[in-house]
Amino acid sequence: MLPMDEPALQRLVAAWQRVESRYRAYGLLLPGQPSFICQPQACDAHCCRSFSVSLGDHEVQRMQATAGLSPVEFLESEEGEPIALPLARPYLLARVENRCALLSPDLACGRYEGRPDACRLYPHQVLVVDETTGRPSATASGAPVAAVDQFLRGEPGGTLPLLLRHLECPGFTGPPLTAAAWAVLLRNTCELQYGGPPWP
Ligand code: SF4
Repeated sequence: MLPMDEPALQRLVAAWQRVESRYRAYGLLLPGQPSFICQPQACDAHCCRSFSVSLGDHEVQRMQATAGLSPVEFLESEEGEPIALPLARPYLLARVENRCALLSPDLACGRYEGRPDACRLYPHQVLVVDETTGRPSATASGAPVAAVDQFLRGEPGGTLPLLLRHLECPGFTGPPLTAAAWAVLLRNTCELQYGGPPWP
């Protein structure tokens, strides 16, 4: 059952109002609001130019498998070896002329099937908020996805998953999100962001 009744949505709005001052770059995305359709011409593919994208091993392997590229062809490298930083996602997508090296001249992703998780997430994000304290909740393994499932089942719980959109992105011009599409987007974004099953 989807908890699309007014009280459930008001819980999300109230939780967002308690944290939004710390997340000024984002807005709360609710059913009925415009969906995202990439409009690279409208922003000159701003996201593929502005962010350095880090990748983990599974993303490198996916890019290799789908794009047929060797790691040094799409990762920042030195002396023929990808640079590995001391991070959970240690590799960096290669950049040229201050943009992602895979951005096509027509402003489409040149390796869309293999694109990293960060590119799949953008411009959405899930923030889990403790409904009692009004603070972002700890993200113990599995907790964010459990919070999503609990909310989508209409069960009361101590944490609420807020689906956010990056305000700078001009792509929110699509048809209004149905309740079902919103629920799928919320869950898929959460799984991808917090390390759930691979994005289909
Ligand atoms: S991999 Fe594709 S979507 Fe990601 S930054 Fe590069 S061009 Fe953009």
